[in-house]
Amino acid sequence: LMEQLNQSQKMEAIGQLAGGVAHDFNNILTAIIGFGNLAKMRMKAEDPQMTLIDQILAASDRAANLTRSLLAFSRKQVIIPRPVDVNGILGTVEKLLARLIGEDIELVTRPGKQSLIVMADEGQIEQVLLNLATNARDAMPKGGTLSISTEARRLGKDFPALHGFGRQGRFALITVSDTGVGMDARTRMRIFEPFFTTKELGKGTGLGLSMVYGILQQHEGFINVYSEPGKGTTFRIYLPLADMAAADALPETEARPPGGT
Ligand code: ADP
Repeated sequence: LMEQLNQSQKMEAIGQLAGGVAHDFNNILTAIIGFGNLAKMRMKAEDPQMTLIDQILAASDRAANLTRSLLAFSRKQVIIPRPVDVNGILGTVEKLLARLIGEDIELVTRPGKQSLIVMADEGQIEQVLLNLATNARDAMPKGGTLSISTEARRLGKDFPALHGFGRQGRFALITVSDTGVGMDARTRMRIFEPFFTTKELGKGTGLGLSMVYGILQQHEGFINVYSEPGKGTTFRIYLPLADMAAADALPETEARPPGGT
């Protein structure tokens, strides 16, 4: 239990630090991008210095992507939850995932038979699956199988896993498994931390899984990892199933009352 407490306290502290840095850094970026665009507008189209400004703007864009991931991790990003079917999300991203992982990796999807309605920002959950698939691909350089399945799960008060410890209720469970290189315990303990990566310089940012972690927290869900070197990796994502009576009562487009922030 002590270890579990420490782990979530550690993630909380990292989240606050990352969120603070990202927020301030984002303000600086806004100035760089704003003045960069202004400079462009004041230049003649044939000005040879134009490409320099374009490079500044492109680099600033990449930096803005990093801060977005950090903000997602620290739960400072706005999500717009609507009732969505997890099976539907899987269907939507299937083609995208197949293209992402390439031809040497087989994609097997097993959507659950019943619909799994959760309150979620669909685009963010798609992002979660894309990030996990990207990592699975990188873990299977010689090919393999990526499997994704969905089902409903009821968790009792003795739910033992590291993240989501003690959580109860009805959840949509998305299981993402690969037959890749796997991880040792030391790596496994740190994968959700921002900037933790084992990939070579320029290949990984270490922000993929921290973003996944933050997105799921914002959805009141959570993620656990099961992995051993040489045996592949399984991620289990839990999202609370929507209370259908409450979901039906929501207006169709606006999920929040007017006047809120
Ligand atoms: P990045 O992919 O940029 O390294 P992530 O936060 O997405 O950042 O992942 C952090 C680390 O977790 C990876 O560098 C890798 O060591 C490990 N990892 C993540 N997914 C897998 C996987 N499916 N198989 C093996 N290792 C993984």
